[in-house]
Amino acid sequence: MLKISDMVCCYGHVTALKGISLEVAAGQLVALIGANGAGKSTTLRAVSGLMTPSSGAMTFDGQDITRVGARQVLKRGIAHCPEGRRVFPQMSVEENLEMGAYLRSDGAGVRSDAERIYGMFPRLAERRRQVAGTLSGGEQQMLAIGRALMSRPRLVLFDEPSLGLAPNIVEQTFDIIREIRKAGTTVLLVEQNAFAALEMCDYAYLLESGRVVLSGSGAELIKNDHVRKAYLGA
Ligand code: ATP
Repeated sequence: MLKISDMVCCYGHVTALKGISLEVAAGQLVALIGANGAGKSTTLRAVSGLMTPSSGAMTFDGQDITRVGARQVLKRGIAHCPEGRRVFPQMSVEENLEMGAYLRSDGAGVRSDAERIYGMFPRLAERRRQVAGTLSGGEQQMLAIGRALMSRPRLVLFDEPSLGLAPNIVEQTFDIIREIRKAGTTVLLVEQNAFAALEMCDYAYLLESGRVVLSGSGAELIKNDHVRKAYLGA
């Protein structure tokens, strides 16, 4: 579904990605793990069109998306749930969800999708007119996930969804990601909690200093000596 080939991404003189290749098959949950600064967020930003690779290529369903830009990427079915949640703090819960659907013109479909999301997240339903900046961290994470789903994506990119959340909320967030995948949406997950990511994924890539150094099923990577020592605290 998504194929990245030999992609290089730079911030000025800093080369954050030094030629990475990876694939996400339809229906899978694929995890990207690695230390801070390894290039995980940069990979997601490049996929969603927020930054342009210096070289390399990306295709989605066989069509080139390397330089099409964020709007076109969203239109083709890829949604990004960014690190740090980034909800619109002055807007209400309802308005945040509407923003997620800004490219859609089917009003009735948008309204019924919003209701579906309120069904998934009853706390958001209770707070639909509350401004998002006053929600708790966990509620903002739910809203960020809901907003991403409002575009009816076929692929969702999650960047560190568990960051800064209380342990019980982290579990809930992971359950929701599993449900999203179970419902047929493909997921590319960046997660600092390597163990949780490897446990729930079908396939994973380990990034170190802008390169893919290892890949395999979650079960294979959990057993790998290097992964165990460097990322699982074993
Ligand atoms: P983290 O968990 O810290 O977000 P990451 O694996 O997602 O780590 P990236 O954020 O993709 O890593 O960063 C990859 C490299 O690019 C790092 O060396 C980082 O310092 C650099 N970098 C990231 N964003 C910028 C930026 N806006 N300007 C300059 N350098 C950046």
